[in-house]
Amino acid sequence: MELKVVEIFSSIEGEGIRAGELCTFIRLAGCNLRCSYCDTPYAQEDDNDSKIMHPDEIVAKCVDLGNTNITVTGGEPLIHPHIMDLLGFLCASSFMVNVETNGSMPIAKYKVSPAFEQTLFFTMDYKCKSSGMNKQMDKNAMKDLGPFDVLKFVVGNREDLEQSLKFKDYVCYKYLSPVFGQIEPKEIVEFMKENNLQDYRLQVQLHKIVYPPEMRGV
Ligand code: SF4
Repeated sequence: MELKVVEIFSSIEGEGIRAGELCTFIRLAGCNLRCSYCDTPYAQEDDNDSKIMHPDEIVAKCVDLGNTNITVTGGEPLIHPHIMDLLGFLCASSFMVNVETNGSMPIAKYKVSPAFEQTLFFTMDYKCKSSGMNKQMDKNAMKDLGPFDVLKFVVGNREDLEQSLKFKDYVCYKYLSPVFGQIEPKEIVEFMKENNLQDYRLQVQLHKIVYPPEMRGV
């Protein structure tokens, strides 16, 4: 039941509906995509620096760190064969769990599990064209997002912004997040105004403002 873990650390949630709140991050090793702008290349492979841990040990570390919020991230957490076990252990321990996933993996089986009701939500990245990974997106996974989940468009240019419009009618929270250093947040705001995007939100990555952008474990 073990999982490969790159790091577990306490910081602030840098993005999404809990932005600014304290949170413990569990970063799992390995990713099935290779985005052009990846800011966690050290988590792409599952054999670099990772430690094998049982869900019990991971939960114990989270209890030690003392935060109620947990974000399970990567890499891509849903490629791990025992991710369901880890999420079950975390939710049973009364943590509020956010799973960051890259839009290429189905989520239906997690959405029907009563164990995760009200304690777990997804933040799904839609990889727009500039990522080079757009063809890997699982459109059915996006359709399974509910009103408490987040669909995040990581945008590097105008074409990426326009792609996000296809999802205007989805019921989840919708965020537009600039690829760091590639597009000015102001351009995103102007796009939102032009298209009257009343239920989209601009998101900047808070942790890259608080700490040096290239710093790990924050
Ligand atoms: S999905 Fe995330 S971890 Fe994987 S390559 Fe893309 S940005 Fe990096």
